[in-house]
Amino acid sequence: MHIKLWGVRGSIPTPASPTVLDGQRRGLLHGFFQSGYTRPEEIETYLQRVPRTFISGYGGNTLCVGVKAGGETRLFIDGGSGLCPAGAELMAGPAGRGKGEIHLLFTHFHWDHLLGIPFFTPIYIPGNVIHLYAVEGSPEEAMRILFQKPYFPVPYEKLGAKLVYHSLTPREPFTLGELSITPYQLDHPDPCWGYRIEEAGRSYAHCVDTECKRFSMAELGDDAKLYRGADLMLFDAQYSLLESIEKVDWGHSTANLGFDLAHNLGVKRVAFTHHNPAASDRKIRDAEGQTREYERLQKEAFRNAGKRVPDLKWFFAREGDELEV
Ligand SMILES: [Zn+2]
Ligand SMILES: [Zn+2]
Repeated sequence: MHIKLWGVRGSIPTPASPTVLDGQRRGLLHGFFQSGYTRPEEIETYLQRVPRTFISGYGGNTLCVGVKAGGETRLFIDGGSGLCPAGAELMAGPAGRGKGEIHLLFTHFHWDHLLGIPFFTPIYIPGNVIHLYAVEGSPEEAMRILFQKPYFPVPYEKLGAKLVYHSLTPREPFTLGELSITPYQLDHPDPCWGYRIEEAGRSYAHCVDTECKRFSMAELGDDAKLYRGADLMLFDAQYSLLESIEKVDWGHSTANLGFDLAHNLGVKRVAFTHHNPAASDRKIRDAEGQTREYERLQKEAFRNAGKRVPDLKWFFAREGDELEV
């Protein structure tokens, strides 16, 4: 299974402002000369040493995750603004010739998970078939709201692609090509469903948006299967630990909580995402640093208790990240 993170930001697209980009450029140039390099051919060597998020940040598009399996199934989870560049890439293949079959899975219908749909070019190409899936709420109703005048110039009836709607049953697996997909409930102010996707014994758990209020096995019940032993979990870490205490009931979580959940349920790797649009790249890096410190303390506690120290891999997601599961 191949996962591509087309959008990792929460709530609203967050392009870097010219002021921020100017500061980043100055910082990089300053660092180049400080490091003792002088020749243009040394630029690449220098850039290799600088963390990627110093150079170009975490990305500003809202949630959209692409899943490919067996090279054929084209699945996207959520239609945030990240769906727009994903659509541009698809246009180079069968979808550009009206021969595309694309699957779009919704977790819920908050705007940040819909914004990219009117700018998803394959939807305008006659001959394409786009399947839309959800557990709660109607994808058809969402589409009719998105494509109506005077809010958008193209009305729903004029869309070129054939749209096929599917209603999913909670906690019931369904099959899509080589993938088995099961929806489980997350904790969000409006109903939101995560997905566990499995292929050939490998598993991806999509856990966004969630405040993760149910934490113990007893509280999670059947929904614990979403997380258990997942090879990769995408987890909502919109807030720093302090913010998560201030923003109870806002529907989002923090990396520390995802970290503990992953330990408890044997998750192997975690990508933290849905970054706060109000957070600068530096602030997200700080949250990453706090998580590293939390990990160090956790490991120390495990060692002191004579327990096996869990080997959890984790990182803060960056737009464009591609992951093999
Ligand atoms: Zn969201
Ligand atoms: Zn939401």
